[in-house]
Amino acid sequence: MNNFAARVTPVGCSSGPTPGAKALLAYLLDRFDYSRNGGIFNCRSVVGGTTFSEHAEGRAVDLMIPTTGQGRPRPELGDPVTQLLMPHGKRLGIQLMIYNLRAWSAKSPNGREYRGKHPHYDHVHLGMTPIAGSMLNYATIESVLGNGTPPPKLADPTHQVTTGLNLRTQPTTAAPSISLLPSGTEVAAVGTPPQTADEHEWLQIRAISGMREVEGWVASRYLVAIGGELTRPVELSREIKPATAGLAYRVEASDVLNMRASPALSGDVLTQLSSGSTVELLADVLAKSDGFHWVRVRVTTDAGVLDGWVARKFIVPIDASDEPVSESSTAGAVAELARATHRVTATSLYLRQEPTTSAAILAELPNGSAVMQVADVQKESDTYTWINVHAVAGPRIVEGWVAADFLAPAA
Ligand SMILES: [Zn+2]
Repeated sequence: MNNFAARVTPVGCSSGPTPGAKALLAYLLDRFDYSRNGGIFNCRSVVGGTTFSEHAEGRAVDLMIPTTGQGRPRPELGDPVTQLLMPHGKRLGIQLMIYNLRAWSAKSPNGREYRGKHPHYDHVHLGMTPIAGSMLNYATIESVLGNGTPPPKLADPTHQVTTGLNLRTQPTTAAPSISLLPSGTEVAAVGTPPQTADEHEWLQIRAISGMREVEGWVASRYLVAIGGELTRPVELSREIKPATAGLAYRVEASDVLNMRASPALSGDVLTQLSSGSTVELLADVLAKSDGFHWVRVRVTTDAGVLDGWVARKFIVPIDASDEPVSESSTAGAVAELARATHRVTATSLYLRQEPTTSAAILAELPNGSAVMQVADVQKESDTYTWINVHAVAGPRIVEGWVAADFLAPAA
């Protein structure tokens, strides 16, 4: 998921470049051998504006990207830079990224049209928070972004992880977690007999985590065999009803999205949809299996029309705005919260029964939804901070837990 740091407005000029900006520039110059140093410190205002630039505080990097002889952008050179940084903006303290008429920020983590005076065809601008400017160093950047060497490949994967899953040193929930395996991670069973403990069956597996191969134990109910039969029956669910059936959606996947004949990871792949391609949402019925919500979609290809299933989380409505949904567009909801404390900043956010990504989903809250925190309690789990809230789900107010990482305080 793409994310960026909350913006801290520059207020004046410092005396020179920050160490964090120097480290980020050095890393990117090493990583992209065609890029050049476009400078860090410059006591000036934003081009065409009156406010101070992040360069004035020495906490912005201009990474020069080659253009064509006519000064046109060469996105095949610039996009790899922005794509590398997009999922890690928050971690690296990047608050603003601009390239080729697009800008990314905490408010627009997937980018929006950039309307500034300078089109940024010839450089990527990277504005950092003051903390990142003073704290970030080369080793930290390398630990987040890698060093350009592809991660090792797992030999003979046997299963796929269906939710964020802890890999533990021993077959018990009390054992330390070696790593959190993201949903979709491929793992290979070691071959030792499964163990039972803490109401789970545990399987010893190998997996790639970060840049290395790790071995440990996982709860087998969160695995699905690759190419095998489903371990659980497909559960048809009407808990979420997109009001937008028939509308166009855009595929947003890191690589390609598999469109399948049935709503499960074991379903035959009918076609692979490239990121950015358009699908039409067909049905207001969803299937839940393998840790994904599946929706039925239609694609139109040269060969004709093809219907199938895709995982809901990898498609977004076209024309989805970065701005919160206006009150009038949520008029369908009968219930109303007494007082909103937060709003959802993600495209959509699951309201769950318990503060963990493996808990049952009570509702899917669209971008801009209001929630009200009901108890001043925070729980840390699955790399998220969870808070207990009331939220509007159709005609009802439902209590549950949401990851506060995807909330902003209500105005
Ligand atoms: Zn700049």
